[in-house]
Amino acid sequence: MKDLEVLNVPVTAGRSSQIVVAGAGYAGLHVVLRLTARLRNNPVVELTLVDRHDYHQVLTELPRVAGGTRATDAVRLPLQDMLAKRVRFVQAEINGFDLAGRRLLTGAGPIGWGRLVLALGSRPNDFAIPGLAQRTLSLYSSSDAERVWAAASKALTVAAAAADPERQRRLATVVIGGGGATGVELAGELAEILPEAAKCHGLAPDRPAVQLVEAGPTILAGSSPQLIEKAARILSDLGVQVHTNARIAAATEQGFRLTDGQLVEGGVFVWAGGLKAPELVADSGLPTGRNGRVKVDRYLRVLDHPEIYAAGDLASVPDPRTGHVLPPLAQVALEEGETVARNLDAELNGRPLEAFTFHDKGSVVSVGTRRGVADIAGITTGGQLAHLLKDAIEWEYRQSVRHLRGWDPVAR
Ligand SMILES: Cc1cc2nc3c(=O)[nH]c(=O)nc-3n(C[C@H](O)[C@H](O)[C@H](O)COP(=O)(O)OP(=O)(O)OC[C@H]3O[C@@H](n4cnc5c(N)ncnc54)[C@H](O)[C@@H]3O)c2cc1C
Repeated sequence: MKDLEVLNVPVTAGRSSQIVVAGAGYAGLHVVLRLTARLRNNPVVELTLVDRHDYHQVLTELPRVAGGTRATDAVRLPLQDMLAKRVRFVQAEINGFDLAGRRLLTGAGPIGWGRLVLALGSRPNDFAIPGLAQRTLSLYSSSDAERVWAAASKALTVAAAAADPERQRRLATVVIGGGGATGVELAGELAEILPEAAKCHGLAPDRPAVQLVEAGPTILAGSSPQLIEKAARILSDLGVQVHTNARIAAATEQGFRLTDGQLVEGGVFVWAGGLKAPELVADSGLPTGRNGRVKVDRYLRVLDHPEIYAAGDLASVPDPRTGHVLPPLAQVALEEGETVARNLDAELNGRPLEAFTFHDKGSVVSVGTRRGVADIAGITTGGQLAHLLKDAIEWEYRQSVRHLRGWDPVAR
């Protein structure tokens, strides 16, 4: 049964008929798609979506772009194909907030809101490790993924031109910092692709290598031991060298210098070791918690700012069952987006707000181009089935965003 409480914020605060959603990622786009359906009979409400890009990025597919098996454009879904006519889309950089004046400050001018939804995602967290931001690539946008593949390809060309095999090996090695799902997926993808790609660059296929450096005792921290073991086995099978309990002290010109003094050398360095909220949010004056994520109440309204909702990676949403803040995941962002849409609709119709509850659907991680691991309903699988499952989830997601406009199976 849903947890309901009577709304105590006046619907008329500000111009409540103006709803502005900042960010067209997993959370923001879903707020807009779900709300469009619910507002079908309410033409007075103005719904505005703001993003720096005119496309939605399918971030879960970035490791494939970074591994050269998927084109960059294939993970950029044009917003105009997804938004109903009544949604005003503003393509602009958001530069700040005028909280007192209830205005979003953007490159296209200020945009007033009655209700604001903050869904600006996250950015890499380098934990102030010296040299990391300057010497590593990240993997948090389709352009990032394109850069990773370009750097890996260039490294193969440079390695092919080197004389001795040792130097070739070093130049053609990709080192990935962070053994979470992003690091594991990228490592698997590259380990499978690089030997093939090497041949096209006139380099022996046994020269490229992939190293995965993780500060904690295990990759895929927080997953079941069975899933971790299966993933580690596939990575090992693909030739990925995994370093655990390997904390990076600095990124130098030679490579990652670990706290025990060891140097992990390579030709390309990617950082996938952590996330934090966008600087814009951290500097906004809104209440923030760990990694700058915005603190919200159980209805996903920002603490002390009931006219602002936050969803997705930038929201700090504790799971009442565990007490831990929910991880930055697409499935969390989607569920939060749906709750925010329902609560905005409830506000407009004078209904009680609904508390957010996360329904974990399990986890699926691809490891290489054909295999993967999955933990669903307490059952762990590894191999081709898990990879097919990942493909199916991504296919289903693409279908849903394309066809959702104006449709909501649970609209009341
Ligand atoms: C490589 C990779 C693989 C992943 N794989 C999985 C997976 O398999 N399963 C899973 O559940 N999760 C996965 N995730 C995590 C998932 O992608 C995120 O949790 C999810 O994208 C968060 O959604 P969001 O709406 O908060 O932010 P995002 O989807 O990042 O959207 C934020 C939006 O805000 C816009 N924006 C940001 N700042 C500004 C600004 N200043 N001005 C204008 N616009 C701005 C951006 O352009 C973007 O459209 C993966 C992430 C990465 C990077």
